[in-house]
Amino acid sequence: MRCKICGEKPVIYMKHHRLALCGKDFISWFERYTERTIKEFRMFKKEDKILVAVSGGKDSLALWYVLSKLGYKADGLYIDLGIGEYSRTSYEKVKGMAEKIGRKLIVKKLSEDVLPLPDLINLSGREACSLCGVLKRYNFNKVAVEYGYSVVATGHNLDDEASSLLANVINWNVKYLGKKEPVLKEEEGFVRKVKPLCKFMEKETALYCLLNDIDFIEEECPFSEDASTIFYKHILNDIEERFPGTKMRFYLEYVKKIKPLFEKVIKGKTPELKRCNICGQPSPSDICPVCKLKERVLK
Ligand code: SF4
Ligand code: ZN
Repeated sequence: MRCKICGEKPVIYMKHHRLALCGKDFISWFERYTERTIKEFRMFKKEDKILVAVSGGKDSLALWYVLSKLGYKADGLYIDLGIGEYSRTSYEKVKGMAEKIGRKLIVKKLSEDVLPLPDLINLSGREACSLCGVLKRYNFNKVAVEYGYSVVATGHNLDDEASSLLANVINWNVKYLGKKEPVLKEEEGFVRKVKPLCKFMEKETALYCLLNDIDFIEEECPFSEDASTIFYKHILNDIEERFPGTKMRFYLEYVKKIKPLFEKVIKGKTPELKRCNICGQPSPSDICPVCKLKERVLK
C-alpha cells in the first residue's frame, strides 16, 4: 500500500475512507477535514472567540492544537477536578499545550468553588461521571459567558458520539435523540457548543497527536469505569471491522435524517428554563442543581 498523495510508505489506512496516507499528508488531511467539518455544520467563523474545554487527553489537546494551527482564536479552559495525581498530570499536559501554541489558559478549580470531585461523590452519593458531567457543563457555560466567549468547543470524536447515540437508541431516550448533534445552538443564557472532531475516529486523533509531538495524558480517569460506554464502543468497533463506514453512517444519517424527526416530538415538551436566583445561570428551577449542591456542602 502507498500514500494516496505522494506514493510514500503510509502510516495509516482508513478503511472507511479507503485512504492510505503518509505522516505528512495525514497531518494536512486531518487539518483540511477539520476545517470542512467546521464549515459543514456552521460551527464558527474566524472572528469568533472560542473556548476549548481541555482535559489533558488526546482529543481535547488535538482539537486545541488544530484550531490554533488553522488560525482560530481559541483559548483553553481546564477544570481541575481535584482527582489527586490524575488531575496534577493532566494539568501539566494542558499547560504544556498552552505554552506550545501561545494561547491563554483559564483554570477553574472545583476545590475552590465547591469541593474536589471525590469528596462531592461521597457527599452526594451520585454516580461519578453523571455528577462530573453536570459540573463540567455548568462551568463551561458559566466561564464562557463571564469571559465573553461565543462558542465552547469540546473534543468529542466519532467513537464517543456513535457509542452514546447507540446507548440512547437502545434505551429510546427520546429527549436526548431530539437534541444530540455536532452543534448545540446558543439560546437564552447558553453559548453555542460544538464538536469539530465528531467525524474522526479515536485512532485518528491519537495519530495526529503522535505526529505533532502532542504530549497528552494516557492514563484513564480513576472514575472511568462506566462499563456501558466502553461496551458500546466495542460493539461498534466489531461492526465497523466487518462493515467499514458503519460508524460514520450511523452517526451522520442520524444527524441529517433522524434527529429532525425527534426534534419535532420533543418540541414544546421541554420545561422552560428560568435563571438561578443565586448564580444567574439557566436553570429548570429557582436554584440550579450546582448551587443546590453548594448549599448542601455548606450545611
Ligand atoms: Fe469525569 Fe467520569 Fe470523565 Fe472522570 S471519567 S473525568 S469522573 S466524566
Ligand atoms: Zn446556580
